Amino acid sequence: MAIMLCPNCQSEVSNEASTCPKCGHPFKKTAQSMGGCGLFMLIVGAVIVAVIILAAGL
Ligand SMILES: [Zn+2]
Repeated sequence: MAIMLCPNCQSEVSNEASTCPKCGHPFKKTAQSMGGCGLFMLIVGAVIVAVIILAAGL
C-alpha cells in the first residue's frame, strides 16, 4: 500500500483506491488489466478445451 498524488487535484490518495475520493478522478490499476487478461485467457482456454472434447467425440 502506497500513497500517490492524484493527477487531477494533486491530493494524496491511496493506490488501493480506484477513484480519487476528493475529485472522483479514475485511476488505472494494473490489477484490473491483469484480471481482464486472466478472464480473456480463461475464455480462450475454455474454447480450446471444448474444441478438444468435440474433436475427441467425433
Ligand atoms: Zn483527485
